[in-house]
Amino acid sequence: MNDSKKYGFTTTILHSDRQKSIEHGSLHKPIHTSVAFGYRDARELAAVFQGKTPGYRYGRQGNPTVSALEDKINRMEEGLATLCFSTGMAAIGALAQALLRDGDHVVVSSFLFGNTNSLWQTVNAQGCDVSFVDATDVANVEAALTPATRIVFVETIANPRTQIADLARIGELCRQRGILYVVDNTMTSPYLFRPRQVGAGLVVNALTKSIGGHGNALGGALTDTGLYDWSRYPNIHDNYKRNQVQQWGISQVRAKALRDFGAALGPEAAHHIAVGAETMALRLERECANALALAQMLQADERVAAVHYPGLPTHPQHALAKDLFRAFGGLFSFELKEGIDCFDYLNRLKLAIPASNLGDTRTLVIPVAHTIFYEMGAERRASMGIAESLIRVSVGIEDPADLVEDFRQALGT
Ligand SMILES: *Cc1c(COP(=O)(O)O)cnc(C)c1O
Repeated sequence: MNDSKKYGFTTTILHSDRQKSIEHGSLHKPIHTSVAFGYRDARELAAVFQGKTPGYRYGRQGNPTVSALEDKINRMEEGLATLCFSTGMAAIGALAQALLRDGDHVVVSSFLFGNTNSLWQTVNAQGCDVSFVDATDVANVEAALTPATRIVFVETIANPRTQIADLARIGELCRQRGILYVVDNTMTSPYLFRPRQVGAGLVVNALTKSIGGHGNALGGALTDTGLYDWSRYPNIHDNYKRNQVQQWGISQVRAKALRDFGAALGPEAAHHIAVGAETMALRLERECANALALAQMLQADERVAAVHYPGLPTHPQHALAKDLFRAFGGLFSFELKEGIDCFDYLNRLKLAIPASNLGDTRTLVIPVAHTIFYEMGAERRASMGIAESLIRVSVGIEDPADLVEDFRQALGT
């Protein structure tokens, strides 16, 4: 593959390992399980430590199998540089640990993945001020900004209610104010959407979900798109200002978060994720088509009270989703009418599995209020628009007719 030519998404991912020489012509990047990397020449070892020669030192800061995956993610996001972490949460935690200081202010969407919401509450308790706002309207983000605001953090499509952030307008606002804009792209994945299009400086991906795609490995990534001007960011330590200004942020995150906090991705997990990534586009095409078919069938049934899916014309941000995303995603949620118990409904499903992952090849369902949103209590759930009967569906790649029939028969006769 000639690196200067622009290939399609899947071609690029499939052939990215061959950009560098691979041991013995192996077609997959091998799984390097070594923690340490030895050098024959002690001066070369020193040069690697001083960043003067490229090379690996110790597994916590970098590993060849993980680097090959970082390169793939970087190509997917058309980024400047990408770092991988042990989980998606570790990637988000890393940016908070490496880039924020006591007294800083952060604006985050109030419709976030539950654990991310909890993480920002922890950051708030540790000395940063965190404002939670309805990010479907840029005006709410703008109203929350203060002179101490360092980061605005949003997701693309919210889980489980599928609200879509005002992505492009928030990007423009951040650009004008010199604020770092971070977009968690997990729900769309780089196949459906690239946050650099809306001006994101950093992009988060939970590799556990669509990129790995088989529910067999945890992982996370942070990509620097190269769009943010780090000379405007006040928290960069002098050590990292020795590099080119574009590298300041990513080198500080590598050192402060990966080296010091140590949530490194393991090489075996990196291999699983890299193999999964090869079929991401194929899986997502099928998942999005299946999700639309299920959402349409359920919406047309009188026993269903509401269906939340950006692919339905009734979704409040349907036009925005159509404009920004290649397809509408593999996740939707729905509410049953009173009289049908959500547990009974789930127990009648024969194919869909009650489980809490997303972006798996298998269709997974979960009663939201009773599981992932249980801890926050009824009042907070109501304020987030989470009905007690809400069922979240992460749609898999099963044959479409089988899935539609399964969800239809569970409604009863
Ligand atoms: C799952 C998820 C995460 C966290 O990823 P883990 O690998 O489970 O830690 C972060 N953000 C979003 C949007 C997610 O769906």
